[in-house]
Amino acid sequence: MEFFTTFGALHYPLSELQLFHEASDDSVKRMLDDCKVARAAAKEIILDGNGKSARLYVLLRGSLEVRNPELNGGLTDGASVRIVPGECVGELAVLDEEAQAATVIALEDSELLVIEGARLWRMIDECNGVARNLLRLLSFRIRAANARLRRHQKVGEFYRQLSYVDGLTGMQNRAWLDQHLPGLLDNAVSAQNPLSIIMIDIDHFKKFNDEYGHQAGDDVLRATARVLKQALRPRDFAARYGGEEMMVILPNTNQKSAMVVAQRLCENLRQTVFFADMHKPLPHITASFGVASLASDQTSADLIATADAALYRAKHAGRNQVAV
Ligand code: GH3
Ligand code: MG
Ligand code: MG
Repeated sequence: MEFFTTFGALHYPLSELQLFHEASDDSVKRMLDDCKVARAAAKEIILDGNGKSARLYVLLRGSLEVRNPELNGGLTDGASVRIVPGECVGELAVLDEEAQAATVIALEDSELLVIEGARLWRMIDECNGVARNLLRLLSFRIRAANARLRRHQKVGEFYRQLSYVDGLTGMQNRAWLDQHLPGLLDNAVSAQNPLSIIMIDIDHFKKFNDEYGHQAGDDVLRATARVLKQALRPRDFAARYGGEEMMVILPNTNQKSAMVVAQRLCENLRQTVFFADMHKPLPHITASFGVASLASDQTSADLIATADAALYRAKHAGRNQVAV
């Protein structure tokens, strides 16, 4: 950036500058007259986001882009703001004397009025109009930054939700379980409500994959997820624990009722016609179910281990059945 003239020599109408709109008394005019005016070439960096800059730049001609890497985080382009003639940049660094957080780049050949920090402070002291305009500008900036943060939070929340969903079945995944099961247990304990889980493992699934291929195996997993979800109440949860193992969480449900639910799921799965359009003999899909109900002082790991042990018994008793 090179200085090439003073502001007074340009005879630029003050009313067109946001900061001096209706605030152009004589003392302000005098203080601005000998401020320097700089030229920036297209793509030139005016503030680099690191250096301390106790200067305010008022754009007279051209356009600038403000990029805020803290807000952007690489997720959205929402944090990039375009500055047009009459607007200014760098005011926060002058006011709080902190390093400039944003990077400012000239989008085209531009001209900027440069106001040193000390001089801006004098203008604020001497002219209520400048102080008022600056406050208005700051409140606008805060609102815009808040709106960007809210958008950013929404994007973050969207990705977080996505990371909790199993891509194949659309069920909640293991990460979701690890995150949410302990909380569901805590809620049950503090409300003195029962809670049960059912561990589900598809029978002889390796053999099914070997015989019909992994694609058909994937279809079975998707269909199984549908069968489970259809049979549950809205307040129940179904998650893919891993591989061909799934878990159902039944809040407010004691062991007796959980057994009834597990029997129903087992029956529904047994009855489901998986490949109606296949010309081969229909593959027979069943699963084994292990039921466990929360006992006092049990952690989620204890509860899962109990359900696993029950599942093991169901497998050993001949599969396609429920055990507790
Ligand atoms: P068991 O009745 O004792 O449970 O026998 P199994 O064959 O079901 O059990 P095993 O643990 O030996 O095999 C599980 C199989 O599940 C092996 C693996 O290829 C398959 N599997 C795991 N995840 C997927 C998947 O995402 N897609 C497909 N198609 N198969 C999967
Ligand atoms: Mg298994
Ligand atoms: Mg299995």
